[in-house]
Amino acid sequence: MKPLLLLLLFVSSHAFAGWQAGAAKADITPTESVPLAGYGGKTRMSQRIEHAIWLKALALKDDSGATSVLVTADLVGLSDKMIAVIAKNALEKHGVMRERLILNTSHNHSCPVTEDVLWLYYEFTPEEAAAKDRYTAMVYAKYDEVIGQAIAALAPAALAFEQGLAGVAVNRRRSRGPESRALGGQVDQDVPVITVKAGTDLKAIVFGYSCHTTALGGLSINGDYAGFAQLVLEKTFPGAVAMFVQNCGGDANPLPRIRGKDVEATELAGMYGKILSEAVRQVVVGTMKPLSGRIRAAMGETELLLQPGIPLDELKQRVPNLTGMPKREFEHFIRQYETLGSPPDRVKYPVQVWQFGTDLTFIALTGETVVDYSLKFKGTYGWNTTWVCGYNNDLTSYIPSLRVLNEGGYEGVSGMFEYGHRAPYTETVEERITTKVEELVRTTK
Ligand SMILES: [Zn+2]
Repeated sequence: MKPLLLLLLFVSSHAFAGWQAGAAKADITPTESVPLAGYGGKTRMSQRIEHAIWLKALALKDDSGATSVLVTADLVGLSDKMIAVIAKNALEKHGVMRERLILNTSHNHSCPVTEDVLWLYYEFTPEEAAAKDRYTAMVYAKYDEVIGQAIAALAPAALAFEQGLAGVAVNRRRSRGPESRALGGQVDQDVPVITVKAGTDLKAIVFGYSCHTTALGGLSINGDYAGFAQLVLEKTFPGAVAMFVQNCGGDANPLPRIRGKDVEATELAGMYGKILSEAVRQVVVGTMKPLSGRIRAAMGETELLLQPGIPLDELKQRVPNLTGMPKREFEHFIRQYETLGSPPDRVKYPVQVWQFGTDLTFIALTGETVVDYSLKFKGTYGWNTTWVCGYNNDLTSYIPSLRVLNEGGYEGVSGMFEYGHRAPYTETVEERITTKVEELVRTTK
């Protein structure tokens, strides 16, 4: 009897004592006409609200007492400046450590511009800039509010994880003319889902997908297909907060799309939302694996190196012939030569990992991460036990894999100037990210 008793004591002292979870949502729909984000070129002022847009937070407290908070947003992205403000408030007002705060955005292209996100895209009049600043102030206040409310709502809960599939994402590099058809068509159509239940009550559904939220590009405020999916899920499961996480959708679009016909385009975006929400619903009503272990959280940073930029005299020579965004990009590089000696040769790249017991490895990458990263890390750490998301932290640029970098094209090569970077990354980009991910996963396993 004695050895058995000892064994039981050993097991019970190490058994996971359970979760406390709290979910909250905050409406960030603008109350006036504001500049719309996501597409460069002429400033587009919002003209109507298709549906409300939201910040949503899930607070998770395990039996170690540590509280981790995931915030999702129907926004195009966040900047370093925004992250610093939000993270400082989360720490000082709510005690959330930086490595335990994951800030994901859906990369919504039908939301307002905030702060300095993608600032080279826009040239605002003073009135437009003032509207943007009023909206930004509201968004900061709502981040603070929603994190506080999720923590205040902490109560005993059970978590579970499973994945579905949805066929909306198409590799967008294949859709840009006949010459691009030879490029890789990789997509990740997995729909990872975490449910949070108190007894039989569903409190939160966190679901992800790897695909740009670019079904729409008109003048209305909405959450694109991800907004529609969240709406359907919250209607299907009353009382639950449905949270969309953008995964590695850097090189995927919802296709086909309709441009120039708002009613038809909105209907199609709604259909994509319906497809995604149905994939989630089937997972939620099916058998899911319990998540029963503490969250071990780690955050680290690597540097992504940039190729040489355009020399100063060449920039100066070419700038008089440019207009619009290319002109702003070149002027930005000239200013960097003048103030910093040269445009920076590297970009900092944060990575976060949350390890849920032995059940799930949640890898949060920065920027517009292409699908190869999702496929790669799921291949390494397990297809059914790994969730990889991009679009956390600063919307620093597209993050190409070595394959995408070598193929050329928009994601990671011609798109780099728009983010204020002097040139594409060097061929070390994928290796540097992989090394950092491996290091952090090792420390949390
Ligand atoms: Zn994008």
